[in-house]
Amino acid sequence: MDYKAYSISNFRKIPQLQILSEEQKQNIEIVGHVLPFKVNNFVLDHLINWDDVPNDPIFNLTFPQKEMLLPHHYEEIAGLVQQDAEARPIKEAADRIRLSLNPHPAGQMEHNIPYVNGEPLPGVQHKYQQTVLYFPSHGQTCFAYCTFCFRWPQFTGMSELRFAGREMELLIDYVREHPKITDILFTGGDPLIMSTKNLAANLEPLLDAKLPNLRRIRIGTKTLTYWPFRFLNGDDSRELMALFRRVVNAGLHLAIMVHFNHPNELDSPFVRDALQCIRETGAEVRTQSPILRHINDDAEVWRRLWDIQVDQGCVPYYMFIARDTGAHHYFSLPLVRAWEIFRNAYKNVSGLCRTVRGPTMSTNPGKIQILGVTEIRGEKVFELRFLQGRDPDWVHQPFFAKYDEAATWLNELKPAFDEKRFFFEDTLENTYRENISMPTIYNYE
Ligand SMILES: *Cc1c(COP(=O)(O)O)cnc(C)c1O
Ligand code: SF4
Repeated sequence: MDYKAYSISNFRKIPQLQILSEEQKQNIEIVGHVLPFKVNNFVLDHLINWDDVPNDPIFNLTFPQKEMLLPHHYEEIAGLVQQDAEARPIKEAADRIRLSLNPHPAGQMEHNIPYVNGEPLPGVQHKYQQTVLYFPSHGQTCFAYCTFCFRWPQFTGMSELRFAGREMELLIDYVREHPKITDILFTGGDPLIMSTKNLAANLEPLLDAKLPNLRRIRIGTKTLTYWPFRFLNGDDSRELMALFRRVVNAGLHLAIMVHFNHPNELDSPFVRDALQCIRETGAEVRTQSPILRHINDDAEVWRRLWDIQVDQGCVPYYMFIARDTGAHHYFSLPLVRAWEIFRNAYKNVSGLCRTVRGPTMSTNPGKIQILGVTEIRGEKVFELRFLQGRDPDWVHQPFFAKYDEAATWLNELKPAFDEKRFFFEDTLENTYRENISMPTIYNYE
């Protein structure tokens, strides 16, 4: 299959869109000016069930919908489009709207940039002791875009918001200088959009450096869903599998961190074959997804997702809460609802599927899991805990928030038992006041 992508400039040529009304097509166009939009022929021909549009989950995953913009933002862009405004005023309005949508949640830009020899290390984030995130500069796009994506500013051409680097040498120095680092996580975008040659140019120096502390390389990807041929019969698929094998043979654990949002994404022989090819290299496959209204807010969907993944040799890893960015109002659901869905799916799968952890919020202080709702001395509360924290000492200490049936994110929660602050807030604030960069936060243990 030859790859053919559609964006806002040519989406009207998509044959399947004949079934949509002109109004629906205009909505795609208007919203697609603000949120990222790209689909391809595999998604169109194999993943979307067109009999089920507009409710089809993969249609909602890839096509902008009117309600993804707040009404006043929608009206603003619609007005410009209807006046046949030039590209420039539309882009300016879209940029302004994007900036109001919390494009870098969880303090990603300011607080997680590491330093090497006093210089900031571009394309790298280091928040939790063991794992650095690396954004290879050629891997900052994807074979198609997810409408919920919190990485969306990277794709919308707001160049000052992009953070990407090709500084593999500096990264190697940094990892060598920080012996607690065991994992490098390649992320994006989608690093597997890179040619095997470019990916090898990033991976080979890491293997050659033989860093004694580096044990694992993870690659986050959605290519299994959006272009499984990358692993099967592309120009350099064989070379990609050989590269995976080289990483494994160098004694490193290679984990392909796959994003599957809905079981329909696994329902194709191409995906099954691709998973098998990957596993034959000795790489592990772990899976993660946010829980999203309009796509997968149903316990039975998650039960099937985990069951099918384990059938196909994947290890379920995380269920995330949708981040407070972009079209959050469209996708988010109350924390209590996410927990109920998690529980109702989890209690119906075998222990082999219960490697999954969640539901989890990736917040500025850390990854916080919602353990459940309970009552303590007459007060209804959420029980929470950190799975990862800016301060490692916060991890796995249960703490409590006032029950709130509408809350969708940490910032809407208040401490239980009339306490003024959550236990971690003083440390968090002091860290920022002293302007300690993230890597050294760990030195105050
Ligand atoms: C989730 C995350 C990691 C990886 O955490 P694990 O619990 O090891 O999977 C690393 N860095 C950041 C910034 C993260 O959000
Ligand atoms: S594949 Fe990943 S980075 Fe790309 S749009 Fe989807 S969620 Fe975002």
